[in-house]
Amino acid sequence: RQSCSARPGLVTAIDVVGYWQKVFETNGIPEARESSEYIVSFVLGAKTFQSLNSEKLRTPLTAVQQEQIQQLCHRRLERMPVQYVLGEWDFQDLTLKMKPPVFIPRPETEDLISLVLEEESRKHKEKNSGLCFSVAVPHPVILEIGCGSGAIALSLLCKLPQSRVIAVDKEEAAVDLTKENVHRLQLQDRIHILHHNVSYSSAKQLLLWGPMDFIVSNPPYVFHEDMASLDAEILRYEDLGALDGGADGMRVIKTILALAPSLLKDSGSVFLEVDPRHPDMVENWLQAHPDLLLTLRAVHKDFCGKPRFLHIQKQSR
Ligand code: GLN
Repeated sequence: RQSCSARPGLVTAIDVVGYWQKVFETNGIPEARESSEYIVSFVLGAKTFQSLNSEKLRTPLTAVQQEQIQQLCHRRLERMPVQYVLGEWDFQDLTLKMKPPVFIPRPETEDLISLVLEEESRKHKEKNSGLCFSVAVPHPVILEIGCGSGAIALSLLCKLPQSRVIAVDKEEAAVDLTKENVHRLQLQDRIHILHHNVSYSSAKQLLLWGPMDFIVSNPPYVFHEDMASLDAEILRYEDLGALDGGADGMRVIKTILALAPSLLKDSGSVFLEVDPRHPDMVENWLQAHPDLLLTLRAVHKDFCGKPRFLHIQKQSR
C-alpha cells in the first residue's frame, strides 16, 4: 500500500489531493479527482475543496489529518462509494448519515421532491380559487415506499411543514438509518417509520393517519439483466434489493400501483422514479388494469433529459 504520510517534508491539502488523485487514477478508481477532493475537504471540515480558502490549502496538514485521509482513501481504493467512505452525504439541503448497504440517494431523485411540492401547491391554489373559498392550510399525508436513508421522506417533511409522512422499508438497516437521520434532524413528531414489505402486506397496516394525499417512491427499477453491468461501487457495497426490479424492472412498481387505490384519497397522486423504458410500459399496464382507477397524468424528464418520473393519479369518483 502506498503511504502518503511517509513522504518527507511538509504536506499541504493541495499536495495530498494531487497525490491521491494520481493513486486513484493509477488504480482505475472512477472520479479520481472528485474522490480525492471530497475526502481531503471532509477531513479538513469543509464540504467542498473549492470552499477551502487559500490559507487552509497551504497550511501543512497535521499527522492526524494525514493519517485520517490515508485511511479513508484506502477505503475508496477498495471501490467503496465516497458517500460511505465519508459516512454522510447531502440530499437537497440536508446532510444525511450514510451507511452500507443502505441505498445512497442519487442527485436526480431530488427532482421527485419538486414534483410533489408543485402538485401540492397546485392543489392548494385550486382549492382556494374555488367558489367555496377556503384558507385552510393543507396537512398532507404522504407515504414513502422504500425509504432507504430517509432522504425523500425527510426532504418532504422539511419542505412541507404541515405534512406527515409514513416511511416504510423492507430492510431493517434502512429503517434504522432513516430513524437515525430523523432524530438528527429532530423530525420524529411527524413521521412513522415502519419495517414493512409492501409485497406481503395489506393496505390497512399503512393507514395509520387515514388515506394518503401522496405516495412517493424511488423503487428498485433496474432490469435484472442490467444489474451485472452496474459499477463495482454499487455491486460491492449497496443493497442490490434496492435496485433490482426483476426481469422488466416493474416488480415493485406493479406492487405499488396495485396497492395505491386502497391507500390514496380520491385524486391522490403517486410519484415514482423509473427507468426511461417504464413510462410506456406503465401506461400499457394501467390500460390493462382499468379496475385500479389510476391515470398516468404526466411523465417528467430528469436533468439528463431522460423520462424518469411518473405522476399517476387516482380518479375521483
Ligand atoms: N438510478 C439508480 C442507479 O442505477 C437506480 C435506482 C433504483 O433502482 N431505484 O444508480
